[in-house]
Amino acid sequence: MRYSLIILLLLFQINSGAQTYKKIHSEAILVDTHNDFLSKAVESHVVFDTNLNGITQSDLGRMFSGGVKVQVFSIFCDEHYGRGSAFAMANRELDSLYAIVGRNPKTMQIVYSYKELLRAVKEHKLACMSGVEGGHMIEDKMDNLDSFYKRGVRYMTLTWNNSTSWSTSAMDESQQAFKVTSYGLNDFGKQVVKKMNQLGMMVDVSHIGEKTFWDVMATTTRPVIASHSSVYALCPVFRNLKDDQIRAIAKNGGVIQVNFYSGFLDSTYVRKFDTFYKKHRHEYDSMYNLKLSALVVEDYFSKKYKTELEIMRPPLSLLIDHIDYIVKIVGVDYVGLGSDFDGIDSAPVGLDGVEDFPKITEALIKRGYSEKDIKKILGGNFLRVFKANDNYRGFQ
Ligand SMILES: [Zn+2]
Repeated sequence: MRYSLIILLLLFQINSGAQTYKKIHSEAILVDTHNDFLSKAVESHVVFDTNLNGITQSDLGRMFSGGVKVQVFSIFCDEHYGRGSAFAMANRELDSLYAIVGRNPKTMQIVYSYKELLRAVKEHKLACMSGVEGGHMIEDKMDNLDSFYKRGVRYMTLTWNNSTSWSTSAMDESQQAFKVTSYGLNDFGKQVVKKMNQLGMMVDVSHIGEKTFWDVMATTTRPVIASHSSVYALCPVFRNLKDDQIRAIAKNGGVIQVNFYSGFLDSTYVRKFDTFYKKHRHEYDSMYNLKLSALVVEDYFSKKYKTELEIMRPPLSLLIDHIDYIVKIVGVDYVGLGSDFDGIDSAPVGLDGVEDFPKITEALIKRGYSEKDIKKILGGNFLRVFKANDNYRGFQ
């Protein structure tokens, strides 16, 4: 009798634990600051407001089931798009976001301000914003920055892996790609940062080199974001953030949105992936010879070699370790989530797509975080930074 009572109590505890995380998750304003669906859609011809389960990591239905309240869609094209084509490509992706939202006015809304964001969330609509991932898309013209702002772009990542004429990337700085040109922001780059501050477009420090980072911190008058960056001390890859950078972002009142990519979380992943790559080298080479994009190639391999890749995924607890690390060095007010879904081919076990965000809330509870702190991590911290940058008073 006593034995069954214990079982009953245990079951009650498990059940109430489940209810707690679901309740916290549904009440939180969950913000994901980096999702690459729009560029994936161009490559793979997939439609966001259809069921893409098993095909992509995101779709509209799964965003709702995962409790995503605010999604910042990444506007991305790589270095092959330069002057005369990068700005146009970015606008094509913005067009597709407008088209998706236009088809779903009852469930989605493009939000231009903090106030509009809160209203959309209250009306149970997915609040959509966009972030330009790579300064090359302004093609060295301030007018293009204005134009992006008017179309709802609310952050710009100053570089992607490629440097611009005015800022150097983490990839180029770490590989010392330029022997003559000085690293960091040049005068035009500093003007870009100031112009973004003035417009109310958040400066995104993900992907930028360390020299550029420190130039940005000396120039910006507003809190910055790292829209999708993880911790260097736990996984020393070129574009993760070092402790002094994390401290500087906290001092500036900004926020670090942790990236879910296995290779940025798990320091053993690169070695594991290298073994996988060597094993399938001929197949990789033949696909690259066809001039297929990296996204298409990754997609092909992730489906064909699912089992092999599955065992390489780190545990979900490692993502929580990265969050925890930032909290331990600067406190709970400077960390959030920037999944990189649909831009990555591997995430921790259990995080297969946007529908799995509640598992993060569950894991944070298990790690001992309070409801208040979890709500900050899920979105509250980002909202503070967005509000501090927001200048939007409507268009004249
Ligand atoms: Zn990126």
